[in-house]
Amino acid sequence: VSEDERGVRHLVAGVIEADAEVEGHIDWGRRFDHMQQHSGQHLLSRVFVNLRGAATIGFHLGEEECTIDLDRADVADKDFDEAERRVNELIFKNIPVMGTIHSAEEYEAMCRDVDGPDIVSRLPEKGENGGMRSRLPAGASSVRVIEIEGVDRATCCGTHCRSTGEIGLVKILGMERVRQNARIKFICGGRALRDYSAKHGMLRTLASAFSTGWRELGDIVPRLVEENRELSKSCEALRTRLASSMTGEIAAPTGAVGQFALVKRIVTLAEGVSLKDIALSAREGENRIVLLGVAADTGLLAFACSPGVPLSAGELMKNCVTVMGGRGGGGKDFAQGGGGDPARVQDALDEAERMVRETLE
Ligand SMILES: [Zn+2]
Repeated sequence: VSEDERGVRHLVAGVIEADAEVEGHIDWGRRFDHMQQHSGQHLLSRVFVNLRGAATIGFHLGEEECTIDLDRADVADKDFDEAERRVNELIFKNIPVMGTIHSAEEYEAMCRDVDGPDIVSRLPEKGENGGMRSRLPAGASSVRVIEIEGVDRATCCGTHCRSTGEIGLVKILGMERVRQNARIKFICGGRALRDYSAKHGMLRTLASAFSTGWRELGDIVPRLVEENRELSKSCEALRTRLASSMTGEIAAPTGAVGQFALVKRIVTLAEGVSLKDIALSAREGENRIVLLGVAADTGLLAFACSPGVPLSAGELMKNCVTVMGGRGGGGKDFAQGGGGDPARVQDALDEAERMVRETLE
C-alpha cells in the first residue's frame, strides 16, 4: 500500500483487467490492533496536553511499540505515572469515539467554540491556543474530526475504536530524549496484554529459580550481584595463590642449556589456573627458559623466557606447535599455542628443546 497526492494505492501481484470486480479483505487482527494503538495515542496525546501542556508533534506505530514525540523534553517519571493513570481512567469510563466530516465553515466555527473541549491537532501546524489550527489547507473543502466525547477533538483520517473501552489498556514503557523533544514509548490493548503475559511468565520463571515470590526478586537480585562480585574477587585471589603454589614444583629446573636453566614439563592444570599464568611465574628470575605443555583434550603449549635470554618464544612456538598440528605464536618473552594432538605434546617439547640447544649452544 502506498500513498501520494492522487490517493492511496494498493499494489497487487497480478494484473487486474479494467472494469473487473475485485473484493478486498481486511486483516481484522491487524486492523483492530492498529485501532487500539492509534486510539490509545489520541488519549495519550490529549492527557499530555492537559498534564504538561505538551503537544504531540509525531506518532509512529511500530511493529512492536508505538511512540509519540512531545514538543518538550522536560517530562519526568512522575508525569508518566500520572499520564498512564489518567489515560486508563478514560478507558475504564468507556467513552464513545465518533468520526464526523465537516465543511470548512463548520470546522472554523468548531475551532472558535471556546466552550467546547480543548482540541488537539493532527494537522501539521499548531493553532493559536495550542489546539487545532483553525483553517484548512488551501483546496481542502472538508475535514474529518475524531471526537472522544467531552475529552478530545482531533482532525484525523485514521481508524479508531468505537469507544475508549475497546482500547483495553495503555502502558507507557519509557522515554528517550530526541533533540528538544520527549519520545514516549507505549503499547495498547492486545499488545499490552501480551507484554504483561511475557513479563509475568519471566517473573514466575525467575521467582521459581530463586525459590521465592516475584516481589522478593527486587531485594534478592542486587544482593546476589553483590555476592557474586565478592566471590569473583576471592576466586581470583585463590587462583593466584594456587598458580603460585603449583609453580613452586613446576618451576624447578629439569636441565640446563649452557648458562641457562631449562624448565621443560608436561603439567596437569588445576581448575581455574591457566598454563599462561604458570609459565609466566616459572620464568621469573634470571636466565630461565620455560617450555610447558598440557596433554588434555587437545595439546597446549606455553613457552616463556626471562628477559635477556637471546631467544624468541614466539619464533620457537611457530616452529614447534606444528609438530602436534596446532596453531600458536607470541612475542619474544612469551608465546602460547594449542589445538593439536595431545599425544604429540612431548614431541613438540622435545623439538623445542632441540631448537633451543641449537640456538644457544
Ligand atoms: Zn486518529
